[in-house]
Amino acid sequence: MDYLPIFLDIKNKPCVVVGGDEQAFSKSQILRQAGCELTVIAEELCGHLQSDVDTHQVKHVNKPFHTEMLDVFELVIVASDDESLKKIVVAAANERKIPINVVDDPDLCSFIMPSIIDRSPLVVAISTSGTSPTLGRMIRSKIESMLPQSYGRLTQLIGNFRGKSKLLYQTALERRKFWDAILSSNIMEIFLSGKEAEAKVALEKEFEKPQKDLKKNGQVCLIGAGPGDPDLLTMKALRIIQNADAIVYDRLVAPQILKYVRRDAELLYVGKKKSSHTVPQEDINQKLVDLAKEGKMVVRLKGGDPFIFGRGGEELEKLIEDQIDFQVVPGVTSASGCGTYAGIPLTHRDYAQSCVLVTGHLKEGKLALNWRSLVQPHQTIVFYMGLSNVEVLSAELIKHGMSPDMPAAIVQKGTTRKQKVFTGTIQKLPQIVANNEISPPSLIIIGEVVKLHDKLAWFSTDYSEDIKGNVLFD
Ligand code: SAH
Repeated sequence: MDYLPIFLDIKNKPCVVVGGDEQAFSKSQILRQAGCELTVIAEELCGHLQSDVDTHQVKHVNKPFHTEMLDVFELVIVASDDESLKKIVVAAANERKIPINVVDDPDLCSFIMPSIIDRSPLVVAISTSGTSPTLGRMIRSKIESMLPQSYGRLTQLIGNFRGKSKLLYQTALERRKFWDAILSSNIMEIFLSGKEAEAKVALEKEFEKPQKDLKKNGQVCLIGAGPGDPDLLTMKALRIIQNADAIVYDRLVAPQILKYVRRDAELLYVGKKKSSHTVPQEDINQKLVDLAKEGKMVVRLKGGDPFIFGRGGEELEKLIEDQIDFQVVPGVTSASGCGTYAGIPLTHRDYAQSCVLVTGHLKEGKLALNWRSLVQPHQTIVFYMGLSNVEVLSAELIKHGMSPDMPAAIVQKGTTRKQKVFTGTIQKLPQIVANNEISPPSLIIIGEVVKLHDKLAWFSTDYSEDIKGNVLFD
């Protein structure tokens, strides 16, 4: 290890930045966040620093640097391009044994500044020992995505209970066991889902009962897994999936997403195919309730968005009936994902001011849709589950006044590397489906916006592979 990582307390201590440009400003901000009394030595200041000086947040010494100036400071940062100035300041600091950092010049530094993730009081610092700040920043953004903003408040909450846990558990081992159990219980999830007061009450209760009673209450989290590309998963979804005890998932969930689950998590496939429901909806609802009652953190994972043709509402009603705690994480719905990956904006100032999402699925053998309201100028129609009824869709739209030449597209396996986009007119839709043996999942997009596909298509797919077969998202 080239450097000792430490966290320095500089609250109310005199610190100084030599230099007055934007870089000096950015360093001054970090120092001020840590609560020091900051002085800037520079003959010229950038606008930001000037305004901090004007509002008395930073003291300003508007004189050329001389070595005695450092006598009163406990930490120095130099942000300047003036090589001779840097050397003079470094010599003066070293002579006085004051820690010094010279921006972008690790050889002159007695300490270096890490990349920081600030969720105060939780702070993560990353250093590459000055070898590659860019890599450091890259790693920081990865860790950043794993730490929601609310982790700061969470850390604070836990901190507030530290004294209490010391009173309750005498040994460090006992305390560690207690906090391990708390941190892997669903109290964390309750907190991170925004119910902070409720989590606090639950935490207080944990101090009243023996440790083995922990993890009593489960929770169900309804999560949208997006349309296919696993990278379209939200950060919140990823975090919860990584934590889950059980995952109940559908056919349209990309298999790559399931690789994020814990190795010991229970995986339950409840996918259904149209007209041959593998698991009846009531059984799925009951399963969610049962798992949650076992105290598990249950993820109900669905393709796209759970509230868009996803029966999310129905599953929640059952949970409410059984008083199971729940939360919902939206996902990218296939209309949005497929439109985007096919280069078809669903709205456009010149072509469509509205967009309707419609099911093309038959109910009791019929497509009971308000066709007249669908056939409107400057409106995009997106049909989910419309493939097997494409003849009815095409005929009804024409019958209700839509031009047979209205552009239409079918996006098959959208957002995956097997995506295919077929374009034509609404009249030709049935023929397109028949000629190309198009298979589900496919989305039908109708409207003038489809014309933009030729110009805006950007996503390249792997056409060399056989796209037939039953495997959806391999
Ligand atoms: N809740 C999902 C929709 C479920 S209904 C969502 O928000 O996207 C299932 C229908 O969604 C399929 O019949 C198909 O029309 C559409 N669909 C889902 N994923 C798709 C994909 N990757 N490509 C094309 N259509 C898709």
